Parts: sequence; structure tokens; C-alpha cells
Amino acid sequence: ADDMAHLDPNDPTAKALGYTEDASTAKGNPVYKAGSSCQGCNFFKGHSEMAYAPCDLFPNKVVSAKGWCASWTQKA
Ligand code: SF4
Repeated sequence: ADDMAHLDPNDPTAKALGYTEDASTAKGNPVYKAGSSCQGCNFFKGHSEMAYAPCDLFPNKVVSAKGWCASWTQKA
């Protein structure tokens, strides 16, 4: 996945979901849960050591393990 393009936070869908590469900047978002980030999200398709990995919501892009968006769902 290293050669895949990083999701642009300004991509319209990313923007609509408040995607950020740094979850610490999402704290002002009303649906943000403390400690949540892409790393622990059910839609993150990466291993723990991957800095970027695919996300089910954003085809053909990779998202930051330290990122976050409003669709964050606790990993099952
Ligand atoms: Fe990150 Fe989950 Fe949002 Fe995908 S759905 S960008 S893995 S928080």
C-alpha cells in the first residue's frame, strides 16, 4: 500500500467526514471519541506497524494510522 496515494483531507468526501491526518486535531468534532484514530477503526485495513493503509470508505487511497474521520467505528 506504500505506493498508493494518501487521501487528501481536501477531497470532497474526506472533507465532508472531517478527515484529518492527525486525530489530535479532531478533538473539536462533536462525534470525536477520546483516543480514537484510524489505527483502531474497523475500516482501517492495515497492520499495526503501517503508517498508512487502505480504508474501506476511500477506495484507491491510503489513510494515516494517526488520522481520524467522523465515520470512525471501533475495530470489531
Ligand atoms: Fe480512518 Fe476509519 Fe475514517 Fe477510514 S473510516 S478514515 S479508517 S476513521
